[in-house]
Amino acid sequence: MLDGAVSVTARDAPLLQNVWDGIRERSGVRTAPLLGACVAFSFHVLLSALFLGLDVLGPRVPWITRYRIHGKPVNLRVWFCCLARISWKYALCVLPLSACMGYTETRFGFAQHERLVTATAAPSLLVACTECFSCLLVFDTFFFLVHYTVHRNPWLFRIFHQSHHVNTHPFALMALDSSIVELVSQQVLAVWSTVVVGCHPVSEILFHLLNIWLSVEDHCGYDFPWALHRILPCFGGAPFHQAHHQRVTGNYAPYFTHWDLIFGTRINT
Ligand SMILES: [Zn+2]
Ligand SMILES: [Zn+2]
Repeated sequence: MLDGAVSVTARDAPLLQNVWDGIRERSGVRTAPLLGACVAFSFHVLLSALFLGLDVLGPRVPWITRYRIHGKPVNLRVWFCCLARISWKYALCVLPLSACMGYTETRFGFAQHERLVTATAAPSLLVACTECFSCLLVFDTFFFLVHYTVHRNPWLFRIFHQSHHVNTHPFALMALDSSIVELVSQQVLAVWSTVVVGCHPVSEILFHLLNIWLSVEDHCGYDFPWALHRILPCFGGAPFHQAHHQRVTGNYAPYFTHWDLIFGTRINT
């Protein structure tokens, strides 16, 4: 897939090529093991802060409230407690583990790292979108299987997933409010998805950013007309995942709806 992308890239995706050249020229950026996890965490908090801004503005701006799925916005104390909880889990465990995984990948020259070193051309826009979508499908499948399993086993649910279900009315930041085991496993599943697809590093970066955006949107508590599930009916979106949080059952896939339809676990939003 990578070779096919090389011949057309500079012509039809100069933006991606510029981004990729910038990354390749900075060898420190390429090899910094903590950078990816830090950027991902910051991106997630930044997106969540935007939705917190909507929550604060909601009472003064009626059109915002019109799109809320449930009436009660998160209060600032709950939001900052959640931020503190997530931050120590990242500082204590997720970031050090990400550094270890990054170091291992660099040290032993795993396939994804080799691509990072040898790929001179960025993928075409079409290839990047196709690889991104494929990664989402694979990640959605992995996530569905794990999520379905932990909900079926009370012991696994208690140690692995219960902390994510503390709030029945989700807010954007709590997409990361999970046990350390769950946070790490989600990162591993995301990386495995890119390995299964064998995508270009640029597509991998785009997939990770899209994955963060979609997980924030799943928990944001708003159903805006421009949300992805309104444009692509194969996505469940915030109402789909909100129903999972309210009933603590069904709608186990994070993004797409097909696995819940196939397994008969789809619940109404
Ligand atoms: Zn959730
Ligand atoms: Zn769940």
